[in-house]
Amino acid sequence: MSDTISPTAAAPKIGFVSLGCPKALTDSELILTQLRAEGYETSKTFAGADLVIVNTCGFIDDAVKESLDTIGEALAENGKVIVTGCLGAKGSDANADAGSLVREIHPSVLAVTGPHATQEVMDAVHTHVPKPHDPFIDLVPAYGIKLTPKHYAYLKISEGCNHRCSFCIIPSMRGDLVSRPIGDVLNEARALFESGVKELLVISQDTSAYGVDVKYRTGFWDGKPVKTRMYELVAKLGEMAKQHGAWVRLHYVYPYPHVDEVLPLMAEGLILPYLDVPLQHAHPDVLKRMKRPANGEKNMERIARWRETCPDIVIRSTFIAGFPGETEAEFQYLLDFMQEARIDRAGCFAYSPVEGATANNLEGALPDEVREERRARFMQIAEAVSVDKLRSRIGATMQVLVDSAPGLGRKGGVGRSYADAPEIDGTVRLLPPQKASKTLKVGEFTKAKIVAAEGHDLVAMPV
Ligand code: SF4
Repeated sequence: MSDTISPTAAAPKIGFVSLGCPKALTDSELILTQLRAEGYETSKTFAGADLVIVNTCGFIDDAVKESLDTIGEALAENGKVIVTGCLGAKGSDANADAGSLVREIHPSVLAVTGPHATQEVMDAVHTHVPKPHDPFIDLVPAYGIKLTPKHYAYLKISEGCNHRCSFCIIPSMRGDLVSRPIGDVLNEARALFESGVKELLVISQDTSAYGVDVKYRTGFWDGKPVKTRMYELVAKLGEMAKQHGAWVRLHYVYPYPHVDEVLPLMAEGLILPYLDVPLQHAHPDVLKRMKRPANGEKNMERIARWRETCPDIVIRSTFIAGFPGETEAEFQYLLDFMQEARIDRAGCFAYSPVEGATANNLEGALPDEVREERRARFMQIAEAVSVDKLRSRIGATMQVLVDSAPGLGRKGGVGRSYADAPEIDGTVRLLPPQKASKTLKVGEFTKAKIVAAEGHDLVAMPV
């Protein structure tokens, strides 16, 4: 074959920077997949690219700064920059129009779009760097291009959010809830499992609200009707995971009564007995000021029922200490809740105002030292609970998904049990196997006997 007909000889190169949360990551994957489908190549450096796309985050002030700095670097080194993502949806102080914040600071960017705008980004790419001819579309795998390691993947089931939590600006950037059609979501999941994914992480802003916007419409998958609803989705994902010997993990679930329905699926082993439930607080008055979803639910009773149905369940949650107006008594209520609920994986942020959030107008803002001191007090309890729970696993044999194992794991490796979501929870440090015939491979499961607990992690001997 002559070099002149190689489709990649003159393929334009696009630099890509993906900042922000897993939801932004899936937007990046969609854009990268489309670029690859059309025959563009990616460049590892700004200078070596024909154009740079920066997918930004606008959630907290530090993320805004990081995004703006990255755009600045890309402009300095390359000059041709398209901005997408949450920051692209923001207006400035002087002009509320979407995109004006980025344009005021970096007027030379070529285009600015908000999040989940693959087509708009592609249109801007086509204007400035025309599509190469003869794209080899067959080169794109059915599940698209993934930025996560090959053995786990995020599955985004919806965009946006119908809630209006007073500390959050996501709905103003991403809009109201839009659920993806259930057939599309299940097709993507099947393609991922078929490509070798061993752990599927279901994400959205509110997984329990899946289908609310389309009134739980009946869709189709595999020629059969299936409702656009959390239970039906999760049950189908669980069946598929079972066929492929894979895990399904649920994130961002609120403690609504209908969530109880998925617990039996966990007890049966169809999906992981793990729930990421961002509770943020326990006191009803604080939850009301936060305008949290499910703020009237009796969370303590609900958690107790979940544990009755599925004793192995691991609950992860995040909390905010020092929210405006939080009294010492309300904070103490949160500490008592944590003592009693014994949340397995709890994180806590000291409240920090986000530009544009309605919570900024609430009375009773607390001094930074008080917020920080409360966060530290919360974490002391959370850590004691975590250490206790991890220690109770010593002696047990657990299924571990291997994330890293240089040299086939002869010197050990690192993996995760069902209790550990990637990036946010602990890990299981795998010791070198005692049996010479035992090897560890990334993306495969191994059984391992827990021999020690170290901070948030476990240490285990592969068996
Ligand atoms: S549920 Fe609340 S915190 Fe979560 S995205 Fe919606 S408004 Fe924001």
